[in-house]
Amino acid sequence: MNAMMLARIHDLSKTDAPLVPQTVPIPVPGDQEILIRVGACGVCHTELDEIEGRTPPPRFPVIPGHQVVGRVRESGTGAVRFSTGQRVGVAWINRTCGRCQYCLDGRENLCPEFTATGRDVNGGYAEYMTVHEAFAYPIPDGFSDAQAAPLLCAGAIGYRSMVLCNLRDGHRLGLTGFGASAHLVLKMVRHRFPGVRVYVFARSRDEQAFARSLGAVWAGHTNDTAPHPLDRIIDTTPAWTPVVEALNNLSPGGRLVINAIRKEAADRDVLLRLDYSSHLWHEKEIKSVANVARSDVSRFLELADRIPIIPEVETFNLEGANRALLELKNKRIRGAKVLVMDHG
Ligand SMILES: [Zn+2]
Ligand SMILES: [Zn+2]
Repeated sequence: MNAMMLARIHDLSKTDAPLVPQTVPIPVPGDQEILIRVGACGVCHTELDEIEGRTPPPRFPVIPGHQVVGRVRESGTGAVRFSTGQRVGVAWINRTCGRCQYCLDGRENLCPEFTATGRDVNGGYAEYMTVHEAFAYPIPDGFSDAQAAPLLCAGAIGYRSMVLCNLRDGHRLGLTGFGASAHLVLKMVRHRFPGVRVYVFARSRDEQAFARSLGAVWAGHTNDTAPHPLDRIIDTTPAWTPVVEALNNLSPGGRLVINAIRKEAADRDVLLRLDYSSHLWHEKEIKSVANVARSDVSRFLELADRIPIIPEVETFNLEGANRALLELKNKRIRGAKVLVMDHG
């Protein structure tokens, strides 16, 4: 099968081809695993964190990709949950221990043995992949493969961020950064909390206009001050400046939820500008989002189907993965980028 492989850490300012196309054997499903013929795989900012070494794969080479949609081709020994041909998805959460306190109390996303798809094991930048059947999800019929793919990470983690916000109708919600996840949060919030007013901070005028077209009451630059203090803010940027700006925009008792697996180092010095009285006092809270639990993925898929939330997608073929990643790196974003396999 064709796959795009990551063989080592790269500096993306020095290469535009971090992934290498390779032909590798189709994986064989082990006990309780299914083999999936991949139809589409979303491109996530976390892939940049893997490639650039902020959350490095433990071994190389690895096939990245953790927003995978495809059809079951074969079931391994003891795998009985899905039938051949059924459409399924795979998300970032690939395996957990099932025994620790976090797993037992519904917070498997914090499991110390958390295994991630496309980082710790091979993911979906390929024509086929295998996964334990308990970590796959039926995909509702209303979405194409490409539309369903971003629901599995951008959507699911956006859902988890929204839950951690503890939003109420009447709140003012800020979204700083407006990529794949934030645009799905905006669509979701508009339906679940019609009384919430959404304020979007984005670097480009295109993103700001896109946010307004989806119902943001205000959209400005990342460094702008919002016209009102905001009760909740979700940060989906890789940088620190938006965090400091967000704390400044937060109302007393407000909460900032940081949805990022890693932050980049470029503007870390801005943290020295943190001023206790304006950024933190008045019981302002900061909470990070770590991974997703299977329940986040299933609940979000169900919600996205019911509302419905159809992601805006831009598609690339498998060999276009490097171009998609570089565009993501360079912030050329409108909606979600998705690789679509042609199985030629
Ligand atoms: Zn992701
Ligand atoms: Zn565990």
